[in-house]
Formats: sequence, structure tokens, C-alpha cells
Amino acid sequence: MVTDQARATASTPATPTIPATHPLRCSCGALRGEVDVSSNVSRDVNRGICYCRDCQAYAHFLGREKEILNEQGGTDIIQTAPRRVSFTAGREHLACMRLTDEGMFRWYAGCCRTPIGNTLATDRMSFVGLVHACLRSGPVDESFGPARMRANGRSARGEPKPKDEKIFAGVARLLRMMLRERISGGWRHSPFFSPDTHRPVAAPRVLSARELAELRAVVEAASRTAPR
Ligand SMILES: [Zn+2]
Ligand SMILES: [Zn+2]
Repeated sequence: MVTDQARATASTPATPTIPATHPLRCSCGALRGEVDVSSNVSRDVNRGICYCRDCQAYAHFLGREKEILNEQGGTDIIQTAPRRVSFTAGREHLACMRLTDEGMFRWYAGCCRTPIGNTLATDRMSFVGLVHACLRSGPVDESFGPARMRANGRSARGEPKPKDEKIFAGVARLLRMMLRERISGGWRHSPFFSPDTHRPVAAPRVLSARELAELRAVVEAASRTAPR
């Protein structure tokens, strides 16, 4: 016998359970956090592959290039609003480097050199480009959608070079997001900057000219050994 309740349940389409947060975790597990994906993800996320030499240099600096870079030297980056990111454990492991004193802030977990993401040097221009390697403990495609943008393909390893794709749409999406964060005051809630002093929560270490030259040489050598 089918009860009314059973009939009602059967006729109600199952609501897919959308997780409200995506886990963020360094590979040793000391630094942990989450990314809020409860709403407006398609609006506030710009995911793309960047093939630029600076992103390759960052991966080599961390000594984790095999995990970070794809076979052509691309990094899968998920750009979103920093207020969506929060750290729940091991904040003291958060470290920051810059390739040059004008370069982006490149954040990583100092405990095991897992990349976290990059930000500009100011919290007022509010975005973070999270590197996929710290998001792998959750379903990345489900939470953030597929990579839509492809940038700096000319710096990719090997041939043929990947074509740049959807750069204009990606940049426009990012600028709209930054503008929304600025107007709403969301920019003030970044886990990478102090809300009072607006200074980075970890002092960025800038590579010396010599360190940078050595790192560039490593990237160059890797690009020459890429399979064709
Ligand atoms: Zn770690
Ligand atoms: Zn890049």
C-alpha cells in the first residue's frame, strides 16, 4: 500500500546536494581551509590554464613542478574572490614569495611547499588565483566548473603551442568581480591581508637577482627538454 507521504516523496524531484564549501588543503595537511562555493560560483569564478613563464617559475621554485604543471607547462588556476577563502588550521604555515619586487604575491604552504594562489600586492584589487594543487581533496570540476580561459600559450613547452582562448571574456569576468568586491566591501575580508593594516599576513620574500636568474634558467632548460 502506497501512503500519501510515500506518494508525495516519490513525486518530489530529488534536489541535488550542492556542497557549500570546497576543501583547501596542502599536501601534508598542516594548512587547511575551505572555499565558499555556496552561491554565485559561475559569476565569481574564472578558471583557466596559464602557460606564462612566471607561473612555471613559481612551480619550479616550489620544487613541485611535476604536480603543478601540465605536460606543456600550464597551471590550472581558479580565480575567485578572496573573501570566499578561509583557513581553518595551520595559518602560520602560509608563506608568500615574489619573483621580483613588482611581481604578484605568490602564496604557498611553507610546511610542504604546496602552492595556494596568487594575489596582487594590494587587497583593494580583490582576487585570488588559486592553484588547483591545493584543491584536489575535493571535486574541482563540480565545485568550480571547467577551465574556460587559456592564456600565454606562446610560452608553453613543446609544439604545437596551445591557442589562447576566452582571454577577453575571462578578464572582463575578473574585472566585474573585482568591481563588485570593491563596491560591496567584500575586498576587506581577505585571508591574505590584515583587515586593519592592509598588509599581507606573511611578509613576501622577494627573490634576489641571482635566485631569479637561476630559476629562469631552470624553466628555460625544462622548456627545451619538453617532448615534441
Ligand atoms: Zn603542508
Ligand atoms: Zn601565469
